[in-house]
Order: sequence, then C-alpha cells, then structure tokens
Amino acid sequence: MAKFTTQYAALIAVTTGVFLTFVACGSQFYKVTLDGDSGPRTTSSRTNTQNPQSKGAESRMDSDPKSNWYAIHAPGGWVEKPVHYRLDPRMAKAQMEGIQKAMRTWELAVGKNIFAYDGVQASVNGDSFKDLYSSLDDHVNGLYLDNDWAKTGKDHIVLATTIWDNDPSDLEKIMTADMRYNNNDYVFGDSLVIWPEEGREVVDLQTVATHELGHFLGLNHVDAKVDPDSIMVAALYIGQGVTQRTISRDDIRRMHKIYGCSASACDVEATLLKIDEFVKPSDE
Ligand SMILES: [Zn+2]
Repeated sequence: MAKFTTQYAALIAVTTGVFLTFVACGSQFYKVTLDGDSGPRTTSSRTNTQNPQSKGAESRMDSDPKSNWYAIHAPGGWVEKPVHYRLDPRMAKAQMEGIQKAMRTWELAVGKNIFAYDGVQASVNGDSFKDLYSSLDDHVNGLYLDNDWAKTGKDHIVLATTIWDNDPSDLEKIMTADMRYNNNDYVFGDSLVIWPEEGREVVDLQTVATHELGHFLGLNHVDAKVDPDSIMVAALYIGQGVTQRTISRDDIRRMHKIYGCSASACDVEATLLKIDEFVKPSDE
C-alpha cells in the first residue's frame, strides 16, 4: 500500500478539482471543504461583530491578512487554563490517542501544557444531545462521536465541527467548547491502518483533530493563498493513507500570539522541526 502524502494528493487535485474522487489502493480519496465547520453559539462573538475601528489604531480584524490578528477568533485564548476536557466513552483507544497527539502538536507549538484530560464523559456521548449547540450547556469541554449527523444541522460532507461559547464579559476569550465528529458518514482513526466501511470513507483522526483543535484554541480558517501549508486552510484531503498532521510556521506564530511561547518554542524553525518529527508516523 502506497502512503499518499498530501502534496501528492494536491498535485492531482489541481487538475481534477474539488470534490472529484479518484481511486487509490481500492479506497478513494477526496478533497473536502471545511467551510462552516466551526463557530460560536451566539452571534455576539467578535467573529460576527468585530469592527476594525473599535480597537483604535491596532486592527483586530481577523479576516484581513495584514492584520496582526488575522485568522484568530479568540485573541485572549481560554478563560481557564489548562483546558479540561473529556472524551466520548465510545472512542477506541487508538482514536483517543489520535486526538491526544493532535493536542500535543499544539502544545509543542507553544511549549506549554494547554490541555488536561479528565477521563471519558461517563454515559454521555454525541448521541446524548438533542442538537448541536445543546452539548455546550453542561460546561464540559467534550469531544464526541455523532452517529446521527443530521441533527447537528450540518451537511453530510462536513467531517467534524467545533463550537464554543465566548466569555460574556470578554468576547475575545473562550469559556467552553465542544467538538463533534461525523461518525455517521466517516470512519475515524489512523488512516494508515484503518479501512473504509460501507458508505463511510476513512478520515485520519489526528489530521482532522489538529484542524478542529485550532478552532478550539482560537484560530479561524486561513486562506490557502496566504498560507498554503496551514492546517487551518478550509479544505482537507481524506481517504485511506492520506494524512496531513503537521502545521505551518504561521500556524505556530498565530498560536504564539494567543498563548505566548516558552523559551525554546519561541524559535519557530526549531519548533516546526520538533513537530514534524513528532507527527511522523512510526514505521512498524
Ligand atoms: Zn475548520
């Protein structure tokens, strides 16, 4: 089985376009959009109300690539750190490890511990909630698998979604957040070892978790023309053997703006090398 890299997939996609599929090793791989995969529960977030004039000389406009706060929806990060989280009890050990490696990637980016695992969320899973945003009500930061994706109101092509509540007294900070994975339409795991199932294509969980955790920590989508290597570009390749587990230099820099950096992590080049080494699949 050849291990397709993102670069290889991208080469093909340039000529075939978005959403066309092609056969690889008996599986298929696709480019899927991540548009609309994240957002705050209320429309009072700065993402929707920001005004570039409102903060005086310094623009906080997150949609302007020239702004210091480009592609950042929560410049203040989280109200409480470390961020405590729980996992869906139905997740397999390998799925939990994929998510926790993605968390470690962002921790390496800043050289600090950001996350604290509180165990599985006993008897609560993605299917316990009546819709998408109601999972925020318990103030548990949960990462869940959803077997009934329709109730989230998201299209079936959407791989996962990250939702949050901002701090009402400081809309630049996140108070609580959840992540929901579309287990209805995709098989999540290590794409180098798992297989598609009837009607459900393989998605590398560590890859999509790295992207979703970017939102979870305060990042917005990045224009591919501004930073083509960013994990926060709103498109991912999925399929058996397809991974994109690392992040870009500017992803690291954007995270430093929110969380700062430890002495060694402030060296972006060295940090990127460390992350590249960390995410490299171990050849069994
Ligand atoms: Zn996204």
